[in-house]
Formats: sequence, structure tokens, C-alpha cells
Amino acid sequence: MPELAEFRAEIRVWLDAHCPPAMRQPVQDEADLCWGGRRWVFASDDQRRWFDVCVAKGYTVPDWPIAYGGAGFDAAQAKVWREECARIGARPPLSSFGIWMLGPALLKFGTEDQKVHYLGQIARGEVRWCQGYSEPGAGSDLVSLQTFGEDRGDHWLVNGQKIWTSYADQADWIFCLVRTDKADRYHGISFLLFDMTTPGVTTRPIRLISGSSPFCETFFDDVVVPKHQIVGAVNRGWDVAKYLLGHEREMISGAGAGERRTTIGATLARAGGIANPVQRADLAHFDIDALAFAAMGEKFLDEARSGRAHPAQPNMLKYAGTELNKRRHELLMGAGGSAALEWDSAATRGGAAARGWLRTKANSIEGGTSEVMLNVIARRILDLPGG
Ligand SMILES: Cc1cc2nc3c(=O)[nH]c(=O)nc-3n(C[C@H](O)[C@H](O)[C@H](O)COP(=O)(O)OP(=O)(O)OC[C@H]3O[C@@H](n4cnc5c(N)ncnc54)[C@H](O)[C@@H]3O)c2cc1C
Repeated sequence: MPELAEFRAEIRVWLDAHCPPAMRQPVQDEADLCWGGRRWVFASDDQRRWFDVCVAKGYTVPDWPIAYGGAGFDAAQAKVWREECARIGARPPLSSFGIWMLGPALLKFGTEDQKVHYLGQIARGEVRWCQGYSEPGAGSDLVSLQTFGEDRGDHWLVNGQKIWTSYADQADWIFCLVRTDKADRYHGISFLLFDMTTPGVTTRPIRLISGSSPFCETFFDDVVVPKHQIVGAVNRGWDVAKYLLGHEREMISGAGAGERRTTIGATLARAGGIANPVQRADLAHFDIDALAFAAMGEKFLDEARSGRAHPAQPNMLKYAGTELNKRRHELLMGAGGSAALEWDSAATRGGAAARGWLRTKANSIEGGTSEVMLNVIARRILDLPGG
């Protein structure tokens, strides 16, 4: 299409002029990403510059409507944007649970006022969100959640505990599943939004084997949540929650992440070659699977954006993408030899490879475990009999 070719040329010129060279370097770890929010401190002037120019053009969320802070790109234009960013290795200007998870749910279930208010804040990186789903007794069986919101007329009084709340200690607001009717498991949950500085909200970081502490226990003690801070209808939050989970699973799968999660054989070969023929064969095998996954991801994302996707497809992406990413890091560790296990040296960027490898262990747990994904695939896609 000539218009699309013209559009691509414009994007290319814009990226060449505005994406700083430092923002075209591969993302080594989460610290290289910009997460935004009230307390965000930019890692460099280049990170700030790249963020600012993208916010001004709506490029932090290119396929959201202009009225909500996006660039109003249609599906084909958004794909061109992704391809052109991948071509130069541009880092995402803003990474956030608001963009990946809450935003899509608000676009589908939010009121007009909520869309203008919350989506705009997300697009401009003003508010950092965390996700209050899991509880000590409700992970895979999320519908067992017990955090309760008592109806007090113009507000809910929320009491309970969440766990594994990623970045709860750094987030400004939380999207939270709260039971508002004890009689009905599925139709007794509401999807509430509230500020993490509301009196009664406390967090306690949980430390991991990798040494970092990316998530928290989150406690609610008589937290007042005004009634207008609900997404969707009262007691119908499970519909919003499930829709959001589809987007979360798609995001965790890495589908659509372009070059960042694809092949590794060529990179390792360029970096000095791999003498061991068994390792070389493993890498070739991995690269073929990674290319197949990238093609499947592209197809599924195209289908999703044109409304033709099977609603359970994100579960396939999540399963395949996270198992692949774990394999990728196993191979990288194998190729790196014992040096890759170094934990503290400057030469290994503080053990970046080992920490990254350990981090991937969580990929097949967060957002729904691989076993649960396989259950969903068996039931909803393969239509197999069973529980
Ligand atoms: C890095 C990371 C970040 C996270 N961030 C967040 C967050 O920000 N917000 C949030 O709310 N939650 C978060 N979580 C929690 C995550 O959603 C849960 O860990 C996940 O849903 C699994 O729940 P669980 O830990 O309670 O395990 P369980 O549900 O207790 O599962 C334990 C084991 O049993 C298996 N199992 C359970 N049920 C079945 C079944 N029906 N069939 C077969 N096997 C089964 C599971 O596969 C697993 O191996 C995060 C988790 C991780 C690891």
C-alpha cells in the first residue's frame, strides 16, 4: 500500500532524528527501562529525552486514540511502528503495567471519564500502576480471593491482603480485585482502582534468590475507596480481570517484543563462536523454535488487533513464549561457562547473566503458571475432555 510505505518512510525519518543512539542499545535488564510514575528518576538524559519526545507525539501508546494520549495509529500503522523501532533496536520509551494491562481493560470496560483521566496519565507516564490480584490463598485459583470491600454508601471499606504484588512499593496506584459479595464466587468480585498512599495501605518487600526484591506483600486495613473508582459494574469485576489477564499473558510471552527475544545463535557466533558441536546444534534448534514463535506471535497479534483471535490464544503465547525464554537463558548460561555464574564482578555487570537466568524461572509462574496454561489450552482450544 503506497500510503503505508509513505507512513513507514516518515516514521523512519522521525526515529532517525529523535531516538538517541544510547536508546538503541539492547536492554540488559529492567533497570534499562523507563517505568514512569510520580517517583521516577530517569537513568540518563537520553532516557528522559526519548521519553519526552515520544510522550509529545503519543508514541508511548501509539495505537491508543489521540484523545487518550495515544497517536491514533490503526493496526497496520502500529505494526509499522513496531517494525521500525525493532529495525534500529529502539528501547520502549515507557514500560508500564498501565500500558500492558490496565489500559486495554479500561479501553474496553472504562467510562469515558475514566478513559480520559487514567489513560492520559498512563500515556504520559505520570502514574505507575501495580496489580493486586494474588492472595496467600488465591493464585491459580484466583476466584478464591478473600480481600473484602464492605459497602459503606459512597465508598467501600477494603480489608485484606495481596501477595506477589510486583513493584507495589514503587507504584502510585493499584488495580485490585476485591470481593464485594461473599455469596457468589465469580459474580461477587469488583475491580477497584486506588491510590497506594491512601491511609491503611502498606507494603512489605519479598526478597528473591536473584538478590532483588521485585514484589511485595500488600496489606489493606480499612482502606476507603470511593464508589466511582470501580471499573465495570459492581460484582462483575471477574470479566474485567479475565480480559486483563489475556493482555498480561500476551505481554509476558514476549510476542511482539521484536528482536529482543528472538534468536541467539548468530549473536553468540559473532561474539567469538561456539566450539562445542552439541551446543551449536542446541542453539540452532533454539533459533528455529524462536523464529517459529515470533511468526506465531505476529500472526496471533494481527488476529487479536483485527478482532479475529480465539480468546484463549494468549494462553498459548504465554506457555510457548515463557518456556522458550527459560530455554534461551539456559543456553546463554551454558555458552557463558562458569564465568557466567559470577555474581558481583563489574565485568559481568554485577552478574547480569546469572540474575537474568534466575529471573526467567518466574516467567512460567507469573500471570498464570504453565500447568494452568496447558489446562486452558486443553479445555478451550483442543476441546479435550476432563476437569
Ligand atoms: C515474578 C512474579 C511476579 C508476580 N507479580 C504479580 C503481581 O504483580 N500481582 C499479582 O497479583 N500476582 C503476581 N504474581 C503471582 C502469580 O500470579 C501467581 O504466583 C500465580 O498465579 C500462581 O499462583 P500461586 O503462586 O499461588 O501458585 P499455586 O496456585 O499455589 O500453584 C502451585 C503449583 O500448583 C500448580 N497448580 C495449581 N493449580 C493447578 C491445576 N488446576 N492444575 C495443574 N497444576 C496446578 C501450579 O502450576 C504450581 O506449579 C507474580 C508471580 C511471580 C512469580
